[in-house]
Amino acid sequence: RPAHDATTGRAPLEVLQQVWGYDAFRGEQADIIDTVVAGGDALVLMPTGGGKSLCYQVPALVRAGTGVVVSPLIALMQDQVDALSALGVRAGFLNSTQDPGRRREVERALLDGDLDLLYLAPERLRVPETMALLDRATISLFAIDEAHCVSQWGHDFRPDYLGLSVLHERWPGVPRIALTATATAATRTEIAERLELTDARQYVASFDRPNIQYRIVPKASPRTQLLDLIRSEHDGDSGIVYCLSRNSVEQTAEFLASQGVPALPYHAGLDRQVRARNQSRFLREDGLVMVATIAFGMGIDKPDVRFVAHLDLPKSVEGYYQETGRAGRDGLPSTAWLAYGLQDVVQQRRMIDTSEGDAQHRRRLSAHLDAMLALCETVTCRRVQLLAYFGQEAEPCGNCDTCLTPPTTWDGTVPAQKLLSTVVRLERERNQHYGAGHLVDILLGKRTSRIEQLGHTGLSTFGLGTDLSDAQWRGVVRQLLAQGLLAVDGDGYGTLRLTPASAEVLQGARPVPLREETRVARTRSRSGGS
Ligand code: ADP
Ligand code: ZN
Repeated sequence: RPAHDATTGRAPLEVLQQVWGYDAFRGEQADIIDTVVAGGDALVLMPTGGGKSLCYQVPALVRAGTGVVVSPLIALMQDQVDALSALGVRAGFLNSTQDPGRRREVERALLDGDLDLLYLAPERLRVPETMALLDRATISLFAIDEAHCVSQWGHDFRPDYLGLSVLHERWPGVPRIALTATATAATRTEIAERLELTDARQYVASFDRPNIQYRIVPKASPRTQLLDLIRSEHDGDSGIVYCLSRNSVEQTAEFLASQGVPALPYHAGLDRQVRARNQSRFLREDGLVMVATIAFGMGIDKPDVRFVAHLDLPKSVEGYYQETGRAGRDGLPSTAWLAYGLQDVVQQRRMIDTSEGDAQHRRRLSAHLDAMLALCETVTCRRVQLLAYFGQEAEPCGNCDTCLTPPTTWDGTVPAQKLLSTVVRLERERNQHYGAGHLVDILLGKRTSRIEQLGHTGLSTFGLGTDLSDAQWRGVVRQLLAQGLLAVDGDGYGTLRLTPASAEVLQGARPVPLREETRVARTRSRSGGS
C-alpha cells in the first residue's frame, strides 16, 4: 500500500486543465491545493461560489488513494457524483438513501482502489463498519464540507459533525481540509477546536460579493412589494423568495402564480417527489421563482439566480449571507432584497423565549437576532456592516441601498422619551400585557375600547404623539428595539419593556438618532402608479 503522501505524479494545474478544462486556479485555490497535496491540513473560508470544491477534488486526483468527502448534503450526492463522472472522475457515495446492493458495489470499488472520491454522510462515520471499511482502504485526504455545521455557535449545527474529530484520531497521517462559506471569527475558532484543526493553515477569502446589491426595506404589504420588485427589475428572471413558514411559502407561490409570475413552492412539508421535481425544474428551466423555506438552497449551484428576496427577517447574519449568496454566482449584477417589519422582531423574540434549550442557547439566538437587526437599521453601507460581521474591512460600496440613497436621520430623542415613559407608566400596572399597537394607540390618543377599559386615557402621555403617524411610531419602536433601548418580553404577548440603556434616554443623557422612514412611502407610490 502506498505511503500517505504518495502522489500520482500529476501536477495540480495539469489536472485542472485536463479534467475540468479550466485555464487557471482562482484566488487561493493553488496555495490551498499545494498544502493538501503536500499532506498538510487546511481550513478554508470562502464565500458561496468561490470555488471550494476544486480545493479538495484536485488534491484527491493528485494524491494516491481515495479522497473521502464528508458532506451533510445527502440529497445532492447523486448530482455531485454524476457531474464528476461526466468529467471522467471516478466517484461514488455512501448514504442512507442507497440500497444495500449499490452500497456493496461502492465499497468494493473503494477497496479495489477504483475511486478517486467518495462522498460520505457524517452519520455514516458513527457506524463501526464504515470505520473498518475506511481502515482497509487507501485514503488520500479527508474533506469536511460545510464545516460550520460543527459549530454550536453557528446557525446550522449538526450533532453528527461533533464526531468528526475521530478522523484525526484514527487516521492521523491523512491530511484534512475543512471548508465553509460561513464563518465569523467565533465560528472559525470553534471549527478549528472541535475538528482538531488548530494547527491547520487557514485560508480566508474575501467574503465580498460585489455584484450583489443589498437592499433592506421596511415591510408594508410584502407580497405586493415583492411583485413590484419582480415586475420592475426582474421580469423573467430566476429568483429565490424565502419565507419563514410553510404556509406563507404556499400562499406566496400561489399569489405570484396568480399574477403571472411562474413560481414553485419548496418546504420540508411537501412530498419528497414534489420537492425533488420543483428543485430540478428550478435548476434546469429559465425564469422560475422558487418560493421556499430555508430548507431550500444549501449546495444548490445555479449560476444565474438574479435575485434572492426575504419576506421575513432571517434569524442570523450568517443565514442571511448564505441565502443571499445564492444570487449571482455567475458574477453578473443581482439583487438581495429583504423586507422586514416590527412584527418580525416581536415574533422572533417570542420564538427565542419559547425555544427549547438552556439560557445560554437563548442568549446565543438573541445575539444572532441583534446582529441581524443592526444590519437592517444601519445608516452606513450594508456591505461594510456585513463584512465587518465576518471580521473583514471594506470601503462603502456604492452598490447597496444605504450607499445609493443615504438614509437621512433625525433626532428621535423626544419621541423615544415619550414612548419609553409610556412604558414606565404601564410597567407600574402589574400583570398588564401590551404590545407595540397599544402603546402607539396611547401616544396617538386613540380611544379604543381597550384603552377606555384600562383607563389609559388618563396617562400623561395619552395623545402626546400626534405629530407622528402610526407607521412612523412603529418605525420608532422597531429602531428602539434594534438599538437595545427597548426589549420584547417573553410573556407571549410581545409586551415591551425597558432595558438598562433606556434610563439614559429618559434622563436625557443619550441622544437617539433614527432613520427616516422614506422608503415605505416610495414603495407604496410605485405600486400605485405605472
Ligand atoms: P463553492 O463550493 O465555493 O460554492 P464551487 O466549488 O461550486 O463553489 O464553484 C463555483 C463555480 O466556479 C463552479 O461552477 C466551478 O466549476 C467554478 N470554478 C471554480 N474554480 C474555478 C477555476 N479555477 N476556473 C474556472 N471555474 C472555476
Ligand atoms: Zn454600500
